Amino acid sequence: MNKSQLLQQDREHLLHPFTDFHDLGKQGTRVITNADGAYITDIDGHRMLDGMSGLWCCNLGYSRTEIADAIYEQLKTLPFYNSFFQCTTIPSIELADALSEVTPEGMNNVFFTGSGSEANDTNLRIIRRYWDLKEQPNKRIVISRTNAYHGSTIGGASLGGMSGMHKQFQALDYITHIQQPYWFGEGGDMSPEEFGVQAARSLDEKIQELGPDNVAAFIAEPIQGAGGVIIPPETYWPEVKKVLAKYDILLVMDEVIFGFGRTGEWFGSDYYGLKPDLMTFAKAVTNGYFPLGGTMVSDRVAEVIKAKGGEFTHGYTYSAHPAACMAGLATLNVLRNDKIIDNVRETTGPYLAKRWAELGDHPIVGEARSLGMVGALELVKDKGSRARFDDKCTAGGVCRDMSIKNGLVMRATGDTMIIAPPLIITTEQVDELVEKAHRALDDTA
Ligand code: PLP
Repeated sequence: MNKSQLLQQDREHLLHPFTDFHDLGKQGTRVITNADGAYITDIDGHRMLDGMSGLWCCNLGYSRTEIADAIYEQLKTLPFYNSFFQCTTIPSIELADALSEVTPEGMNNVFFTGSGSEANDTNLRIIRRYWDLKEQPNKRIVISRTNAYHGSTIGGASLGGMSGMHKQFQALDYITHIQQPYWFGEGGDMSPEEFGVQAARSLDEKIQELGPDNVAAFIAEPIQGAGGVIIPPETYWPEVKKVLAKYDILLVMDEVIFGFGRTGEWFGSDYYGLKPDLMTFAKAVTNGYFPLGGTMVSDRVAEVIKAKGGEFTHGYTYSAHPAACMAGLATLNVLRNDKIIDNVRETTGPYLAKRWAELGDHPIVGEARSLGMVGALELVKDKGSRARFDDKCTAGGVCRDMSIKNGLVMRATGDTMIIAPPLIITTEQVDELVEKAHRALDDTA
């Protein structure tokens, strides 16, 4: 089938997620046909360095045949069975055990789902069950943050704090939002350190306003990912930790993006020294090769749920799909055997930090920040006043198109350009990424 036929069928039949169908109808779409290592290629043969690891998924890149083989072998042996009704499968047991080893201390239980959104819905169910069994049924409210992304199901999207999404459905009424720790955008005259403390105190104020006995949990990503790679000031997490401990409120860390090495530690929680009660994962757990998500449940929470008896009336047909679990096991093996995370922490992460920071000198960049294998560029019309381009989306959108033209995939969130390249990227490829990003900025300016 030729390209124009494919594009016509795409227009006629495929409803793309997070897409303005009207714009897509006018512009058409890029058909990605193949990929290798850290690169993707479209139907026209245009090869691009994938600065987004797919959708924050392919941390090990696109050429991991050992993961593909593990999936194929499992599909031939036992293509499907679930862990409902007193049954289980060997891959699901082995992956649960392996995850207990690599996740923070005290997280020794896993509930598998098919995606990150489902896992956050599962979190809402576990949180309620936990406080009910603890005979504190008033603890109902879950606090999240503005501009957060926690998924697209009703539960996930209610936890999310993106106003554009909230306008299109009715959010759950027991979820509320506080300020995000976005110093560049909201810090005003404060130093990052002062602002970090203030943003954490907004959690304390919200808890006091709602009444601590009514608050069940606080959910956050270690670093706000889809919201624009918002790296909190150093003072933020230590202060949040104190607030949650003071009021006995569960901490849910959403590690869908930062899990499995992106910060140079196994999890963002490790990077910030946090001990979550629940921890959402998805995406890179299978290197994106097979859908799988889940939530790690701490012993503190699991012991209550396990000890009290009574059925936990929740689960998905594809919870712990055996082929997905084999993909997860193969992914963990590569991460460990090839010392991928050590390499990010010791070599490629610091190198990216140094090279990425150079982009901060560009006339339309107000801030260039990075940590491990993520980075962001704040696009501004005027560096001094931090004034944005007139049309918020156009600025980022233009830069995204320019980066594609220059052979690099970057993502635009408003006026922030973000990257999350595969963890296997080499220092030479970091140079290539920075040079291409520079050209995209020149073409945007
Ligand atoms: N949580 C976070 C932090 C995410 O970034 C995402 C997806 O990007 C999700 C949850 C939802 O995951 P999924 O798209 O697998 O449902």
